[in-house]
Amino acid sequence: MYDAKSLKAEEFINHEEIEETLAYADANKNNVELIDSLIEKAKLRKGLNHREASVLLACEMPDKLAEIYELAEQIKKDFYGNRIVLFAPLYLSNYCINGCVYCPYHGKNKHIARKKLTQDEVRKEVIALQDMGHKRLAIEAGEDPQNNPIEYILECIKTIYSIKHKNGAIRRVNVNIAATTVENYRKLKEAGIGTYILFQETYHKESYEKLHPTGPKHDYAYHTEAMDRAMEGGIDDVGLGVLFGLELYRYEFAGILMHAEHLEAVHGVGPHTISVPRIKHADDIDPSAFDNSISDEIFAKICALIRISVPYTGMIISTRESQQVREKVLPLGVSQISGASRTSVGGYCEPEAEDDNSEQFDVSDKRTLDEVVNWLMKLGYIPSFCTACYREGRTGDRFMSLCKSRQILNCCHPNALMTLKEYLEDYASPETKEIGMKLIEKELETIPNEKVKKIAYEHIHDIADGKRDFRF
Ligand code: SAM
Repeated sequence: MYDAKSLKAEEFINHEEIEETLAYADANKNNVELIDSLIEKAKLRKGLNHREASVLLACEMPDKLAEIYELAEQIKKDFYGNRIVLFAPLYLSNYCINGCVYCPYHGKNKHIARKKLTQDEVRKEVIALQDMGHKRLAIEAGEDPQNNPIEYILECIKTIYSIKHKNGAIRRVNVNIAATTVENYRKLKEAGIGTYILFQETYHKESYEKLHPTGPKHDYAYHTEAMDRAMEGGIDDVGLGVLFGLELYRYEFAGILMHAEHLEAVHGVGPHTISVPRIKHADDIDPSAFDNSISDEIFAKICALIRISVPYTGMIISTRESQQVREKVLPLGVSQISGASRTSVGGYCEPEAEDDNSEQFDVSDKRTLDEVVNWLMKLGYIPSFCTACYREGRTGDRFMSLCKSRQILNCCHPNALMTLKEYLEDYASPETKEIGMKLIEKELETIPNEKVKKIAYEHIHDIADGKRDFRF
C-alpha cells in the first residue's frame, strides 16, 4: 500500500502507485484542461506532486512545453536569482566491495588502480583545490568497511577543514558515501558536514537488485531508507539523485518526487538538493549497454519539471554533462554546478597515466574553474562560492523558510557577490577579474535592503584590502 508517511521503502516508494501514476499520466497527456490547470497550480510556486508532475512529463504538446520551460525559468529567477553555486568533488578512495554494474569501482574490476588517499595526500588535493578557488567540496568514496570505515571518512573531513593555504579554505564539505547507520550519520553531523548526498540510482526495486547484484548496496530497503536514518542522525540537508539511463526515466521521475514528498511528510523538510546524473563511459563500463538512456531534450524537460515541482530544492549538474548541455539546462532551474572536476583518486595533484585508471567516469566538461567562472558571467550568472547557510545554522526547514520568505535577495545575493569578489582577488585571470568586478558593481545595486546593501559595499572594499570570509 502506498503511504508517503511510512518508513518502509516499499510503501513510500510504492511500485503500484508509480505504475498507476504512469498510466494516469499516459491517459491524460493530451488532456488540455488538466494540463492547463496543473501549469496554473505550478505558478503558485508551491510545487506539484508526483502524479501531477508525471502528467506534464508525459505531455508532448509543444505550446504547453514552452509554457513549462518559461515557468521553470521564472521560478528559477524568483527563487535563486542568477546565482550559480560552484563546487568540486574530491575522491578519497575507490576501494569498493559492491557489484554495481554501471560503476567501474565494482569489486570484481581487477585492472582498475585501487587508491585511497593518505591524510598527507588529502592535504595536497585540498591545497590544489583551494588554489583553484574552491570553497565547497563533495567527498566521494566507494563502500568498503575495511578500507574506508567511517573513522577514515571523519579523519579526512577533519583534515579538509583544517587546511588554510594562503587565503584558501574549504568551508563546506558535502558527503557522498554509501548508505550507513544512524550512529554514523550522527558522527558525520558532528564532523560539520553540509549535505549528505546519496543517489538512489534507480527507484525500481527489481532493476535495483539486478544492477546491484552483490555487496551491501544490494539491499534496496536499506539504501532507500538511508535518508530517514540520516535525518534521524540529525542531518537535515539531504541530497537525492537517480542515475538516468538505468531505468525508464518516467518511473525514476515519479520515484524521486515520491521520495521528496516522503521526506516532507515525515520530517517536515524536503530534500536540499536533487542531482540528475546520466550514465557515462568509464573504465569497463559502456553506457550503450544500458538501454534507457535519455536524449538532451528529455533531460532538459526533466530539469524544468523538477524546478516547478519542488521549487525550494536546489538542483545539481555535474561535469558529466558537456558545456553545451549545461548551458541548455542552467536557465531551467539548476542552482549548483561542479567545475574543473577530477573523478580519479588523487587526480587534482597528479593527472593519471593511461594505464593507471582510477577514474569513476569520463568528464565531459573539462574546463578550468576560471574558464567556468568566466563563462557563467558572460551568460549573465553570478558564480557563487557561498557556504553561509549551514555555517549560520540555516539548514533544513530554516533554509526553506529563508527561501519562502524571499529573503534570499538580501542574503544569498550579497553572499554570492562577496565570495565572488574573494575569488576574483585571489584566483582569477585578469580577463575574468575585469568582467567580475563590473558584474559585482552592477549587482550590488540590486540588493533591496539599503542597510544590507551598505554593509555589502563595505565588505567588498574590505575584501580588496585583504580581509576574507564575510557573510550574511
Ligand atoms: N559509493 C557511494 C554510493 O554507493 O553511493 C558513493 C557514490 S559514487 C562515488 C557517486 C555516484 O556516481 C554514484 O552514486 C552513481 O550514481 C554515479 N556513477 C557511478 N558510475 C557512474 C557512471 N558510469 N557514469 C556516471 N555516474 C556514475
